[in-house]
Amino acid sequence: MLESTRVTPTIHSVKFEKPPGFQFAPVQFCGLEFQTTAGSLEYPMSLACSPTRPYLEFGARISESPWKQAFAALRPGDEAEVDGAYGHFLLHETSPAILIAGGIGITPLKGMAEFAADRKLPIEVRLAYSNRNEEEIAYRAELEELTRRNPRFEVVHTLTRTPDDSSWTGRRGRVDSDLLGKLSSGLVDPVYYVCGTEGLVQETYRSLMTFGVPPDRVVHEVFRGYG
Ligand SMILES: Cc1cc2nc3c(=O)[nH]c(=O)nc-3n(C[C@H](O)[C@H](O)[C@H](O)COP(=O)(O)OP(=O)(O)OC[C@H]3O[C@@H](n4cnc5c(N)ncnc54)[C@H](O)[C@@H]3O)c2cc1C
Repeated sequence: MLESTRVTPTIHSVKFEKPPGFQFAPVQFCGLEFQTTAGSLEYPMSLACSPTRPYLEFGARISESPWKQAFAALRPGDEAEVDGAYGHFLLHETSPAILIAGGIGITPLKGMAEFAADRKLPIEVRLAYSNRNEEEIAYRAELEELTRRNPRFEVVHTLTRTPDDSSWTGRRGRVDSDLLGKLSSGLVDPVYYVCGTEGLVQETYRSLMTFGVPPDRVVHEVFRGYG
């Protein structure tokens, strides 16, 4: 393991050396296994980086569970087993992309945005990133850096539970038809990528259907295991 960083009060991020020959598509998930107080355990985890990067990155919302506690305690030099990669939550490289993340659901979408920037893909990529409050926005600096590197990449943050008297001047509220309209403005047949907990994905899917998006233009990754 190379790096271990707390990126928000509840989200922890780690980077591993990429094993020789390890390949994945933007952006699949892996089984990530290591020793915990309850023995060796494996959890499904989306990769939180692009395959163009020389490392493997994962980000997790920390809870009291043995796996999460061990994840947050990983230190440089520690080893883990990476099984995979799996899944069909993949960027269509020739269609405009609208990425919709709730909280920790940012992980594979950050990887897609990195991929589009690193490969200089000729597609618009627009991210709506919903969090409860400003301090829970994960990878904020990295996302801003990507907007500077890729003129086709935009980020809209929206906060759902920030107090009215906070200093936040950005958008408030959930990802709704109004935001979906702004994001898709001027794009021809975008693909919508939705990632987060089951509740977030279901709610966003309903908004997309109300907005008139054809179901075959929506792909999603559900982070099961958040109750
Ligand atoms: C494809 C995929 C990618 C994921 N990527 C990420 C990621 O990038 N970051 C992240 O933080 N989390 C990710 N998750 C979720 C992660 O694997 C954990 O399930 C979740 O973080 C909850 O872990 P916990 O230790 O806090 O809860 P736990 O204490 O382990 O579990 C809480 C409750 O959920 C149940 N549960 C746990 N895991 C699952 C599961 N996989 N399926 C069904 N029920 C389950 C448990 O039985 C328990 O009842 C991903 C899940 C999937 C399926």
